[in-house]
Amino acid sequence: MMIAKKEKDRIRVPGFATAHSHAFQRGLRGRTQRKEAVPGSFWSWREGMYRMAERLDPDSIYAISRFAFAELALAGVTAVGEFHYVHHQANGTPYAERTLLADAVIRAARDVGLRITLLRVLYHRNGFHQVAQGAQRRFCDADVDRALDDVSDLMKKYALDHGVKVGVAPHSVRAVSRDWIVAAHRLAAAKQLPFHMHVAEQPREVEECKTEYGKTPVAMLAEAGVVNSSFVAVHATHLDDADIRLLGGARAFVCVCRTTERDLGDGLCRSGELLRAGARFCNGIDSHAITDPFEEVRAVELDDRLRTVSRHAVCDATELLRVGTRNGYEAIGMAGTEEDAVWLAAGDPALAGADERALDDAVVFGAGPRAVREVKVGNRVIVKDGVLADYEEIRAAYERALARVFS
Ligand SMILES: [Zn+2]
Repeated sequence: MMIAKKEKDRIRVPGFATAHSHAFQRGLRGRTQRKEAVPGSFWSWREGMYRMAERLDPDSIYAISRFAFAELALAGVTAVGEFHYVHHQANGTPYAERTLLADAVIRAARDVGLRITLLRVLYHRNGFHQVAQGAQRRFCDADVDRALDDVSDLMKKYALDHGVKVGVAPHSVRAVSRDWIVAAHRLAAAKQLPFHMHVAEQPREVEECKTEYGKTPVAMLAEAGVVNSSFVAVHATHLDDADIRLLGGARAFVCVCRTTERDLGDGLCRSGELLRAGARFCNGIDSHAITDPFEEVRAVELDDRLRTVSRHAVCDATELLRVGTRNGYEAIGMAGTEEDAVWLAAGDPALAGADERALDDAVVFGAGPRAVREVKVGNRVIVKDGVLADYEEIRAAYERALARVFS
């Protein structure tokens, strides 16, 4: 059975979910690609990202996030998991209203019409035996209980909005210690909240974890009791065979963010092996290096073809479409709201003449954001005839915010 359905001159697909986003990083697009004195790396890119993060204020984070979400909506995305880590003022002092910046990001998504799961990030150090510095102070909390109180406060604040969910996200094994991860997981398990972490994105993170704990990040997390079927491992790039068995055996989610991972030179996830071991995939736009949920979906398969020098390396188009839609909704705790839908122009050059018996294949391997005509979230049509209401106003506010941040 195909998921994509032909309806007159349209093709209907479920709304896409991006389960891992840092919306403010949309402002970095095209600003980090030039080679400087020494060739760049993930870590030098991160310095540029920190310079931007240092300069954000509640107005600019709202304007930049709203634009990022507007572009996602126009591309067919209906739900986003926002891995939100810029919490405090530039010197690290909390705002009087502690969740001011999280509130701004949530409002940005809701004003565009997207569903959002605010994954409240926990962060307290630069690394093993290294205190937080510079921009990282904005991300940090003095103690884990205070950070988790913010999670509870956000849940109360948005309890009546069905378009908003809250999750818990220890940043990574680098940025939080094992005690924090265990405490965060206790709350997530008790309240049945999504639980996300960056896992093994860079070889250095794996090496540092081995130094601190004598184990890989996945092995350490499994031993800490947090790897289960609601665990979302973002990236999961540098895994050994035992890590793959642990994630697969637990039926954990792996959230691959292929366009960002390509941009940052992270490396290739062992997708086919993970899937066959039992892991479930979802997609993330992560740094908003490019906004194309169709590309994120097909990259799960196509990048593994490159890695394994074979075809049909991971799964077929119908399963890939599930990765980009239903699986993403499940990973951010939004299961049950799959009435959200996207209509593509069947006559778009990317789709014209598609074989109706293989419509999922045509959509997954051929379509792009240009084909998106209508986007519906719940009862609300947020994109009509390819147009998002208020787009020009949203864009102008975004450009003004960027001018301030990069002045
Ligand atoms: Zn990320």
